Amino acid sequence: MPENLAVATFVEAGLQPLEEYPGSMRPWRAAHTCGGVVSPTLSNVRVGRGICRYCNSSFPFASDADLYMVENGTAIKIGISAPESDRLSAHRRQGWRHLWSIRLPTGDDAYNLEQAVLRWWRDELLFPPAYPTSAMPQEGATETVLAEEVSPSEVLTFVLQRLEEQGVSNPSIRMAVPVLD
Ligand SMILES: [Zn+2]
Repeated sequence: MPENLAVATFVEAGLQPLEEYPGSMRPWRAAHTCGGVVSPTLSNVRVGRGICRYCNSSFPFASDADLYMVENGTAIKIGISAPESDRLSAHRRQGWRHLWSIRLPTGDDAYNLEQAVLRWWRDELLFPPAYPTSAMPQEGATETVLAEEVSPSEVLTFVLQRLEEQGVSNPSIRMAVPVLD
């Protein structure tokens, strides 16, 4: 699609492009009318999908959110949740146990930390998810790893180091149970 038509499509969807058109399949940084800076692809925006995660998600990308870890004896899982959500209860009903949570100022912070942990597991350590999607009715299988591969305290240390690098030296951590190596 020519750039002027691409821009028109974005503007129509309430998105003001912030960089040159990268092609229809690539993330394109833009400011949504809500003020959120997002990077949807043109091909998604054309079919009305994934326009703005700040507006189209129940997850609070712009306010308080938790990064949490649960385990079930076989695997550990990293996740993000809204402060008052029933996400941890959903895991408990499937036999998972809450280990720790960190309250972050925004859901964006929680999301970025979660993605950093997943890149570490998948791209550096090369550990695959512990479960296929079908094995977790409450969803989240792609955020699991076998417990024998990485310990919960290693993950906590990794996250705290990232936060320290971002200038957060005293994050709000809630330990549900003592984390043992
Ligand atoms: Zn928005």
